[in-house]
Order: sequence, then C-alpha cells, then structure tokens
Amino acid sequence: MKNDKVLITGGAGFIGSNYVEYVLKNSEDEIFVLDKLTYAGNLKNLEAVSHKITFIKGDICDTEFIQNLFEKHKFQKVVHFAAESHVDNSISGPSEFIQTNIVGTFNLLQNSYKTWMNCPNDLKEEFKNARFLHISTDEVYGTLGETGLFTEETSYAPNSPYSASKASSDFIVRSYFHTYGLPVVTTNCSNNYGPNQHKEKLIPTIIRKAISGEPIPIYGDGKNVRDWLYVMDHCSGIYLALENGKLGETYNIGGRNERENLYIANVICELLDEMLPKNSPYKEQITFVKDRPGHDFRYAIDASKIENELGWKAKENFETGIRKTIAWYLKNRDRL
Ligand code: NAD
Repeated sequence: MKNDKVLITGGAGFIGSNYVEYVLKNSEDEIFVLDKLTYAGNLKNLEAVSHKITFIKGDICDTEFIQNLFEKHKFQKVVHFAAESHVDNSISGPSEFIQTNIVGTFNLLQNSYKTWMNCPNDLKEEFKNARFLHISTDEVYGTLGETGLFTEETSYAPNSPYSASKASSDFIVRSYFHTYGLPVVTTNCSNNYGPNQHKEKLIPTIIRKAISGEPIPIYGDGKNVRDWLYVMDHCSGIYLALENGKLGETYNIGGRNERENLYIANVICELLDEMLPKNSPYKEQITFVKDRPGHDFRYAIDASKIENELGWKAKENFETGIRKTIAWYLKNRDRL
C-alpha cells in the first residue's frame, strides 16, 4: 500500500474505467484520470467513483498540454489505456489511430522520461519506483490457424490499421526501455467483455440487437475464434504487472476461453431466453453478414508467463462472465 500519484489515461473508456474501480479497491494510490472523451469515453463510467479521483479532460496528442500536466502533478506511475480501439473504425478512418495510438503514446513516454529520468538529482528518490504500464492487445501478433497460441516470443504480424498502430506503440515503448532505461512494462491482452463496454463492440451489439428484435449480425460464417477475458480479470493482471512485473518485459493476458463468434451469439441468445423471455427464441434473429476485410481467423493467448511469474489467474470463465455482463446491460439499457 503506497500513496503514489497514478495517471490513468483513457480511464473514461471501457477497460480504463473498470481499472479505476479495481485500483481504488486495492490500493491507496491517488488517481488522476486523463481522457479526451471521444465518442468512446463516457463520464457515466466513472460516476460511482467521481468523488475519489481527479478527472482531467485532455488529449494525449497535445504536446504542450501533456508537458504542463506532468510538470504540475509529477506522477509516479502511468497506466496507459487511451487509444482508438475499434478495428472497423480503423479500416474506414485510420488517421486517428496513427495519431492517438502512436503519437499519443510517444508523448506520454517522452514526458515520463523528462519527469523521472531527466530531473534534478534531489528529485530522483521520489521516482525510484516509477512505472509506465502500456496496455496493448494480442492483435499485434496477427492471426493463428486452427492450432497454436500466442506467447511473448511470437513475432508481431499486425493485419489491421488498429493492430499496426498498437504494434508501433509497443515498439516505441520497448525502445524507451532499451535506449533510455525508462521503467516500462507492456501487457498484451485478448478480447475483453463486461460492464461499460461501448455499444459498438461485438457483445453489446449482440445483446442490443437481440432485445430490440433486430437481426443479430455475425461476420462471415461465425467461425472466427477469439479468446475472451472478463474485464475485471484483465484489471487484476494489469495491476500485478504494474506492481510486480519485471521492467522491460511484456506479459500476455488471456483467459484460456477460446470461443467462436457464432457460439458467443448462441450463448447470449440462450441466456436472454432465460433472463428476458419472449415468444420466440432469440437465436432466430442471428444473421450472417459480409466478412470484415483482413478479418483475423483466430486469436488465442498462452498466459503461462503472467500466471507463473506473477501468480495471476482469471476468476471467470466465459459462461460465468457473460451471465454477469448480460445482467449488467439489462439493468443499464441506456448503455446499449
Ligand atoms: P475504449 O475505446 O472503450 O476506451 C478508450 C478511451 O480512450 C476512451 O475513453 C477515449 O475517450 C480515450 N481516448 C481516445 N483517444 C484519446 C486521446 N487522444 N487522448 C485521451 N484520451 C483518449 O477502449 P478499451 O476497449 O477500454 O481499450 C483500452 C485499451 O486496451 C486500448 O489501448 C486497447 O488497445 C487495449 N485493449 C483492448 C482490448 C479490448 O478487448 N477492448 C483488448 C486488449 C487491449
């Protein structure tokens, strides 16, 4: 238990807001949330904890603003979630992804470096446990065939502008460790689901379309596989990596919950039949639509490193986590 000043970027988004909740429960740190509040950010995500944090609206790409912010608050830790995160948007408009995910990350690294390493000697003690935790995705590894798992040794092979921008940011983070000794740790996680996820993503879309009686769209033949992780399990992994992760290392976080997209839609429909019954089964609304260009076939994570080195373990499997998630959306229908 320490009282560090922690900057959480993108904390009004899906995973960031869950992480804010997690860290408030598990530490005494002073939390600053920085978020531009793009279409994906929502202050409702922070409503329950707003009196316990300092919220700052701002853009990680704004060099002068970020410099002033670091000079003013002298954060000891940065947990970096802020990103453009939706693959479909990166296909129709990649430019924001390059700016936020690459240039924005660079800006944060540069100011962390100035604050922690380029400071007068008498301030160095204050930053001796400084950490920059970079949140990334398993999509940087590209796609898998029917077998195999992504490990931390897997070569990067991103296929979408989103994953390419995240891969670039991972490399810049890595370079700050090797070149300047900046205390960084990177996590690469599989697909998350849970409360506060933006309605554009697969699981909220399935729930929304199902309960509004519309066709439930599934890309291609629905056989694409993702490795699903309940968001709070991701948050516990991030916290462990931040507190105990080895500097300069990357940790893959995944729930060993590989599921086909069509299976996801079927399970949600079955749970809705039970939780919100109607005359006909929800499954009848499932409709196959034209596949996404460059759609990766399968992602699956080998999480042995974080499990063995840091003692992390997911608490939820897909079937328990999805029930909680549907219950949350049914109580918070304005979020669909
Ligand atoms: P999200 O889209 O829900 O939230 C992103 C947040 O960042 C939003 O609140 C948005 O307002 C903010 N933001 C965007 N551009 C900004 C900018 N220029 N300056 C400041 N704030 C800005 O995303 P998410 O799903 O919570 O993902 C968070 C992070 O986790 C991302 O880095 C993403 O790549 C990574 N990740 C996500 C998943 C997933 O399944 N969602 C899986 C692995 C990794």
